[in-house]
Amino acid sequence: MAKKVKKATKKEIEEIKHLFLEHYPDSVTELNYRNIYELLVAVMLSAQCTDKRVNIITPALFKRYPDPVSLANADLEEVKSYINTCSFFNNKAKNLIKMAQSVVENYGGEIPLERDELVKLAGVGQKTANVVMIEYTGANLMAVDTHVYRVAHRLGLCDAPTALKCEEELTKKFKTDLHRLHQAMVLFGRYRCKAVKPECDDCFMKPYCKTTESFKV
Ligand code: SF4
Repeated sequence: MAKKVKKATKKEIEEIKHLFLEHYPDSVTELNYRNIYELLVAVMLSAQCTDKRVNIITPALFKRYPDPVSLANADLEEVKSYINTCSFFNNKAKNLIKMAQSVVENYGGEIPLERDELVKLAGVGQKTANVVMIEYTGANLMAVDTHVYRVAHRLGLCDAPTALKCEEELTKKFKTDLHRLHQAMVLFGRYRCKAVKPECDDCFMKPYCKTTESFKV
């Protein structure tokens, strides 16, 4: 249940937006990838897992399964053995294979480059699809992970009880530059506005901060 915090005013929202874009002008994902297939796999693995951990796992995984066809034909237990240091690896292994099978069966082995098609792939939800589109195409989309959710609540940008509702609110309020704002809020939340012990002393968002409470999706 989301805690109640004071809402940011329209003026504050514009100033917060400006500050994020100013402080994080060229931010990109910290996941390592060389093509859209690798990006999609990395993003699927990153749910409830750190990017650092995913980057340790993926080089060997991509060497063994370099494309959707090889992953579609993979043995489940073998895939698990490559990703078993990642949280929820049992489900993730199943979903990775199912995703690859649907890419082979329905898209000729090419990952579709449209959000509405990506979400039709097995194991790919709206957040995963949005993150892939944001990163790969710079699409004007918002995606809400645990960092974006916490930052949005602390700054009074949303009081939504779910990540999807929070995504809707941020989309409505920010309107443009959503992909850059997404990356900025992820990095801001990961390295400064942390869940535990946020670095508030010299925080550039301090004038807009409503609370240091922790918010979890
Ligand atoms: S002052 Fe602290 S809690 Fe508030 S936005 Fe900055 S880092 Fe986050």
